[in-house]
Amino acid sequence: MKDAYGREINYLRLSITDLCNLRCRYCMPEEGIPKRAHRDILTLEEIDEIVSAYVKLGINKVRITGGEPLARKGIVSLIEKISRHSEIKDFALTTNGTYLKTMAKDLRAAGLHRVNISIDTLDEKKYAAMTRGGKLKDVLLGIEKAKEAGLGPIKLNAVLIGGFNDDEIEKFVSLTEQEPIDVRFIELMPIGEVANWSLKNFLPNEYVLEKVPSLRKLKNADPSSPATLYQLPRAKGKIGLISPISCKFCSACNRVRITSEGKLKHCLHSNEEFDLKKVLREGGDLTEFLKYVILKKPQQHQIEAGDFIARNMVQVGG
Ligand code: SAM
Ligand code: SF4
Repeated sequence: MKDAYGREINYLRLSITDLCNLRCRYCMPEEGIPKRAHRDILTLEEIDEIVSAYVKLGINKVRITGGEPLARKGIVSLIEKISRHSEIKDFALTTNGTYLKTMAKDLRAAGLHRVNISIDTLDEKKYAAMTRGGKLKDVLLGIEKAKEAGLGPIKLNAVLIGGFNDDEIEKFVSLTEQEPIDVRFIELMPIGEVANWSLKNFLPNEYVLEKVPSLRKLKNADPSSPATLYQLPRAKGKIGLISPISCKFCSACNRVRITSEGKLKHCLHSNEEFDLKKVLREGGDLTEFLKYVILKKPQQHQIEAGDFIARNMVQVGG
């Protein structure tokens, strides 16, 4: 269905948990975040009900995220439920990759199409330091298992952090040379844990182009994608540069987001949230409510406005 500005809303991002097995310094406090009571988060059945209602309104692209979505009990059965909607043409999941070594096959068999895997460094020690204890080899094995299982095209997400991984840009780019793997550099967003980080940690994505001048810009096939695409000559994979703040892609925005506790956000950078859990549990008309919220989607984000208070990425799933 179209919103009030004529944008076709066809992409649903579902955060199914705030919890995570890692503690990335830019995303989570060291102690983690308090576990919510079971009744405070959407059940798998409620999530399924929401997806079914959205599919009727024209959603044909779904991404599951978190927190770490593979840490939620029942994830494989949720994927099975969602994948029975043949209208969904693109069904993806964003993960830190650490559980893929054991789960990739089951996820594919349950109907998941593809995965985006977050990996900010290719150095074991730096990985352990940034994730506060994560093991890089788990992720690397996870990437292999995801490839074997057919969860491609695989996209690797790296948050660009000055003084941390700016010396690895060439290495990340070279991963796209021999295999059809895409690498996407994401600008660090100054929200949550990062609000007080030093300015030197924030690098504009153009820095990637300075480091690798042989990258050539490609025509973006999907105007609603926040990534600007580049490629090395003769490479099999692509490089995506994602600038969530400096570059506005609002005019082509096609997405809505739902948090694990059932808050519907029509814009990542808006304070406005709508309580879907209440509608579901008090017997409201879900479809009418979803339509109402689509029509309230703002024309563009308000991140530069003084009164915007961002949620942590772990709550909205990036
Ligand atoms: N746990 C999964 C993962 O790490 O891929 C899914 C959730 S995570 C919140 C989604 C994405 O948000 C990850 O790629 C992560 O690197 C990114 N992210 C988290 N905090 C961020 C920040 N402050 N700025 C930019 N990206 C961030
Ligand atoms: Fe966990 Fe992903 Fe946040 Fe890292 S970025 S702490 S893996 S949710």
